[in-house]
Amino acid sequence: MYYNEETIIYYKGNFIKAAEAKGNPYDQSLHYGYSVFEGIRAYDTKNGTRIFKAKEHYDRLKFSADAIKMPYEFNSDKLTEITYEVLRRNNLKNAYIRPLVSCTPNMSLTKGKQSEIFIAAWDWAAYLGDKLLRLKTSSFRRISPSSFIVAAKVSGHYINSIMATQEAKDAGFDEALMLDVAGFVAEGPGANIFIEDEGVLYTPQLGSILPGITRATVLDICNELEIEVVEKQLTLEDVHGKDGAFFCGTGAEIVGIASLDDIAFKKPFKETIGATIQKAYKALVFEKEYRNIATIA
Ligand code: PMP
Repeated sequence: MYYNEETIIYYKGNFIKAAEAKGNPYDQSLHYGYSVFEGIRAYDTKNGTRIFKAKEHYDRLKFSADAIKMPYEFNSDKLTEITYEVLRRNNLKNAYIRPLVSCTPNMSLTKGKQSEIFIAAWDWAAYLGDKLLRLKTSSFRRISPSSFIVAAKVSGHYINSIMATQEAKDAGFDEALMLDVAGFVAEGPGANIFIEDEGVLYTPQLGSILPGITRATVLDICNELEIEVVEKQLTLEDVHGKDGAFFCGTGAEIVGIASLDDIAFKKPFKETIGATIQKAYKALVFEKEYRNIATIA
């Protein structure tokens, strides 16, 4: 599904066939979830294949490794070049890119001894699809900032996300919405959330969420388009039955939300600010002009 016999990856310093990659079952990363990763996208723009916000993603990868004291000797510019080469070798223009830094065997609970990088790319449609989502508030709270560095994208943190998404799907919903340990709205298992109420967008403040690169991009778009956004603690009452909502993330891109806990958002998504942001985001990643919203096709 993610690779075939021809697929080339970058692994432990070399471009090799994915089918010939050899991992080590004694790796610390496998045993303890002690690895860090990124989710990046490349788009086939009019200026050629372009990795969207490569520097931001690779800088966050380093931040994540540093946060858990993982040895990290990679450089964002060099990794960006390597990633373009992975895309070229696989003839990929629109792609999802997955870098992962893992650590060699170490069964004690101490920092990693040596890290190794894996970079793969594949064709992947928007992670949550393009239909409006039916969300359910999760019974699993988002990981606590007093237990983990939530701004780091660490593999082990994603057990929390898997529990939440699976619970929502088992209950017949598309995806979960997670609260933080204090009961305020946090984020989706793999995306940040924005809510629209009376012409203003609201999004949870940083602290208990992954500071999404897409979230930052949405804030920039709002600034350009003079859309008011407020970052604050939100309760479920601030979400249920409001005008609109959307998730944003590199994998998910911008996706509208139909309902939370079967309580519908009031406006049809195409009439919400989220729909405008969705168009602007799409224009931006394809390196098209988006500031004059009327010109967005
Ligand atoms: N929150 C979580 C928990 C995520 O996994 C992601 C996806 N990386 C996001 C938010 C969105 O982050 P970004 O926009 O940087 O992809």
